[in-house]
Amino acid sequence: MGAKTRIVDGKGSLVTPGLNDSHIHLMSYDRAHPFPPIFLRFLHGRQQVAEKIASYAAKLPKGSWILGEDWTDSVWAGPLPTRVWLDSLAPDHPVWLVGREGNSGIANSAALRAAKIDRQTADEPPGAIERDGKGDATGVIRGGPMWRIEATLIERSRDADDRAIEQVMTGLLRTGVTSVQHNNSWYDFLVLRRLHQEAKLRIRIYASPPLPAWERLRDYVGAQGRGDTWMHWGGLKGYGAIQADQYYRWVSGASKAGLQVMAHLGSESEMRQLLQVYGRVRGEQKLTDPRFRLEHGHDMPADLIPVLAQVGAVASMQPPLLAHFDQRTALGVPAPKNLFPCRAILEAGVRIAFGTDTYPATEIIAPAASLQMALERAAPDGTRLTIDEALRAYTLDAAYAEFAEREKGSLEPGKLADFVLFDRDFTRGSVHSIGNAEARMTVVGGRVMYDAL
Ligand SMILES: [Zn+2]
Repeated sequence: MGAKTRIVDGKGSLVTPGLNDSHIHLMSYDRAHPFPPIFLRFLHGRQQVAEKIASYAAKLPKGSWILGEDWTDSVWAGPLPTRVWLDSLAPDHPVWLVGREGNSGIANSAALRAAKIDRQTADEPPGAIERDGKGDATGVIRGGPMWRIEATLIERSRDADDRAIEQVMTGLLRTGVTSVQHNNSWYDFLVLRRLHQEAKLRIRIYASPPLPAWERLRDYVGAQGRGDTWMHWGGLKGYGAIQADQYYRWVSGASKAGLQVMAHLGSESEMRQLLQVYGRVRGEQKLTDPRFRLEHGHDMPADLIPVLAQVGAVASMQPPLLAHFDQRTALGVPAPKNLFPCRAILEAGVRIAFGTDTYPATEIIAPAASLQMALERAAPDGTRLTIDEALRAYTLDAAYAEFAEREKGSLEPGKLADFVLFDRDFTRGSVHSIGNAEARMTVVGGRVMYDAL
């Protein structure tokens, strides 16, 4: 203890390690646009794309960006368009259209100018700024140099982003959250990186961009490393619609590059396909510790539980989502077969990471409330978690799910000083009142980030 040491009498209440929401959408950059990006995948042919861009250009003030996303080669039915074509549709608006896999984009001349991309701009291999015979950019940009356009986009919403993220962090700290695991777009990732570089983060972040763009993350890690204890990266999130062939290519490539894979699951068949892919990649690459993640596998067929252990998976589950199953069952949808079999999962040697799957800009679910939901829910065989196990899924094993259990997740010498003082000891007494517990003080890295004492 030193002269400035502050002594707090907890009066018999509870101190826990900082809570870690292992599946959250901290922000969603795309949602902030008054004109949302044009969703290109369902447009047929250039004519439809042209009409859409022209209609945006007619409505938006000159100079406003027109964004599009999710094009596939089939949208163009031929070679990719170039800036010249886009200029003919919207000469006075920067246009930027990103492909489905997030690895390439097409800019018009105004967008290239705004991002200061010209003949002299470096390619950043393995990325490339495609050029014509004269050395001028055609507008097609692949991989690394895409950040130049995105950085320009992000700069224009700097103040709004700062305010939004500050509000979200404050709200989460009040509930005892000290770490989050966020997934969304590359835009979000770069906005969070900017905040990180400007030392504006008050909550620790593990950020995972979309899986199809795994090569971009590989290159980013190659150039920038993997971050620090405030923000780190090295994981990728797959967004459902799982097809074994496609996922095999992605998971295999990402794993070879040393990146972690997590995937959103819907149906049982997706779960089976994903586990097959994970198992195959683990075997082929002889991975000792892949920590492949299954996001939302709440209805987990009993025969798959040992497979989770075989493939080296982590079960990432969100207690607040359990209520959706109840609602659907009430509406007549066939009941889940094996909902939330947490004890069986733990007994198979698989770790569980808890989170909320919320957008805290619009809704915050406190960890205490989430823990209550987890503990009130028994598996079909009648088993349920203990409070210690549930807390572990929200702290140490959540840290494990992001490869950070050596730095955080428990209160031990040598670890980061992330902890929460609650107003009561919710580990005793009825599980039905855990959600009433309130954080009184939240400390991150030894700094008091929230203080209601
Ligand atoms: Zn989610």
